[in-house]
Amino acid sequence: MQIYKVGGAVRDRLLGKPVTDIDWVVVGATAEEMLAKGFRPVGSDFPVFLHPKSGEEYALARTERKSGRGYGGFTFHASPEVTLEEDLIRRDLTINAMAEDDHGVLTDPYHGQQDLENRLLRHVSPAFAEDPLRVLRIARFAARYAGLGFQVAPDTLELMRQLSESGELEDLTPERSWKEISRALMEDHPQVFIQVLRDCGALKVLLPEVDALFGVPQPAAHHPEIDSGVHTLSVLEQAALHKQPLSVRWACLLHDLGKGLTPQSEWPQHIAHEHKGLKLIKQVNERFKAPRDCQELALLVGQYHTHGHRALELKPSTLAELLQSFDVYRRPQRFEEFITACEMDARGRLGLEERAYPQADYLRGAAIAVRTVAVQPLLEQGFKGPELGEALKRERLKALKVYKEQHSQ
Ligand code: ATP
Ligand code: MG
Repeated sequence: MQIYKVGGAVRDRLLGKPVTDIDWVVVGATAEEMLAKGFRPVGSDFPVFLHPKSGEEYALARTERKSGRGYGGFTFHASPEVTLEEDLIRRDLTINAMAEDDHGVLTDPYHGQQDLENRLLRHVSPAFAEDPLRVLRIARFAARYAGLGFQVAPDTLELMRQLSESGELEDLTPERSWKEISRALMEDHPQVFIQVLRDCGALKVLLPEVDALFGVPQPAAHHPEIDSGVHTLSVLEQAALHKQPLSVRWACLLHDLGKGLTPQSEWPQHIAHEHKGLKLIKQVNERFKAPRDCQELALLVGQYHTHGHRALELKPSTLAELLQSFDVYRRPQRFEEFITACEMDARGRLGLEERAYPQADYLRGAAIAVRTVAVQPLLEQGFKGPELGEALKRERLKALKVYKEQHSQ
């Protein structure tokens, strides 16, 4: 049997990027031989094995054919006769379809190296169109390598458009889609992921609520970029520049969905867009079964981001309600994520990327002020049950009044 490194490991080495996980392909072997060497099968009917020591994936060379719609709609054929070239042709991109033997000799039948040089994400064969997940994968690679100047090849974008129009994206399970979306959002240029999806028509299938933001104007005084979709991309870009976690990036992507519902007669104003957007945010959260922390933060940021921007003008009672809504006493980290999401929203505007955002420290100070109110003295005064809750509320409100006064001096 011959064993080759394939896929991401070969690509990233040639790009001079760190290689994290290595995928291997095994040519000229049977499943029985693999088992005899101590490899562990990944599934009962899939020709992929884990190395007994390293745990890395070793796949028998295989060919694939589409046999129906959806994830199960593939039949594959693995046998010792399948050649390396036959295995590589089933892969998505030419830059992912190179193999390297243990002497470092490259097999590159589909000119992946040339596409690396030309900074092109190009499909290997027309069979690309057989798996709708590839639309998301290619947009994700575009987000990852945008900084190196990579672009999707026009023919590949055309295939992605056909896949998007075929309705097959709807067959993807929430789990497979979320895996790609969440990884893409954590790349260096997540806004490119959304942009590429939009360019091929996939955005209006996967995230029509985000797609609807493009072409919707906002007031130029606060939003020199005008367009709500462009703004959303910039907010996401800021979140990545500031190395924010997934929950914040997800919240940034969804924070303004309500603007897509504003009647044209009200443009460029978006009265109560925060509230109107909530049902859309909920809908998107559920579509992809996003993890709970992402879901919660997106809803809270959607509802309260304008409060964040107006923090210095908020009455102590409104500030108290805001802090209460976030349960800042038990969930301080979530409030911190809200603050940074608001800051990204403020900076994700044309020409305002470097602006100061004093609201952030003001909100942090307010959270400290209420969290410093101690329960013990109230217990000692004999408060209990609902009365204790009321007393605590009063003390916290007092603390916020003092905080606001001190701050305005
Ligand atoms: P990453 O750095 O994200 O791991 P990768 O290219 O190694 O990138 P994997 O998901 O680990 O991506 O897949 C390994 C290889 O398997 C890819 O490089 C590609 O050749 C092939 N591959 C994976 N998923 C698909 C797919 N849906 N369609 C075609 N080829 C695929
Ligand atoms: Mg990999």
